[in-house]
Amino acid sequence: MTATPRKSGVQTMPAAVITAPGQVEVRELPRPHPGPGEVRIRVHGTGVCGTDLHLLHGHFGAKFPLVPGHEISGVVDEVGPGVRNVREGDPVTLDPNLWCGQCHACQRGLFQHCEHHEALGVTLPGGFAAFAVCPATNVYPAHGLTLDQAAFAEPLGCVAWGMTRLRPRPGASALVFGAGAIGLLLMQGLLASGCSEVTVVDPVQDRLDLARQLGAAHTLRPHDRLREELLDLRPHGYDVTSEATGVPAVVAGLPELTATLGSVLVFGVAPEEATVAIRPYDLFQRDLTVLGSFALNQTVPLALEWLRAGRVNVEPLITHRLPLAGVPDALNMKAHPGLAGAQKVLITPGL
Ligand SMILES: [Zn+2]
Ligand SMILES: [Zn+2]
Repeated sequence: MTATPRKSGVQTMPAAVITAPGQVEVRELPRPHPGPGEVRIRVHGTGVCGTDLHLLHGHFGAKFPLVPGHEISGVVDEVGPGVRNVREGDPVTLDPNLWCGQCHACQRGLFQHCEHHEALGVTLPGGFAAFAVCPATNVYPAHGLTLDQAAFAEPLGCVAWGMTRLRPRPGASALVFGAGAIGLLLMQGLLASGCSEVTVVDPVQDRLDLARQLGAAHTLRPHDRLREELLDLRPHGYDVTSEATGVPAVVAGLPELTATLGSVLVFGVAPEEATVAIRPYDLFQRDLTVLGSFALNQTVPLALEWLRAGRVNVEPLITHRLPLAGVPDALNMKAHPGLAGAQKVLITPGL
């Protein structure tokens, strides 16, 4: 899609804009220009994520109008003065999280916890547009990958941060609840990090079939005797238990499925106010570790290594490609997971 110059000569571009809670429309916006140290990308594809749905409903402090989309790949279109890492024509992916470098968290290397955090597609214009502008510090060359693969750098970077936190013991057994796109990235990240086998639980059979295809050892649908069935498979429990569901009841059930000296990795985004009951005695008596994992922190390079090495396979996760006008449909699929058989929906402005 080419932007149409206005009479004034100002170049424009199409973008999907959230104009008010629950309202998305395609508009022509001024085409952004890269300033010093910035890069402009012609967007190839931007993955749709649960965060985009939260933003649509005005959560996460969303300010409208907003161009969402933070899982972005594309080709460098123009570079501002002082950019050294990429040049025009390079295939790239972005880490959408911008940090100040000066705050308490940044000075300790916890960039995703920056007190002045901004992010493309969350607080700044994102990837549901023909072009996006980003600091060169957040742009990673994606040579050797398809641009479809490169669009997974952000969600896979979150998995890479989780694995950096978890450091699974070589040969560990793992259990993952949730076989949506993130769950299947998490499953593959566990295998790429030395786990010997991963068991995956999800109510949707198609997702379980894909989990198998991507390396799951066992797949189960939830039912009344799920706990017993999981413990039949591994009577001493799983070295790693995790979830990509955000469902508090799922998190609550993880400790009792975790082996002695094992770890519970809370990976999904639960409702902020949700609480769960766990037995502190279990954590104490069985030497359990409970870990959280928030966003990503300089882990795009690891994600790109996994992709280049074929350790993580993302192309089968793409179930839909939609143009900018398809953003409302894509968000609706996100709101009703499993309904449309959707895994990762890629918004492709060039369609
Ligand atoms: Zn995301
Ligand atoms: Zn900071």
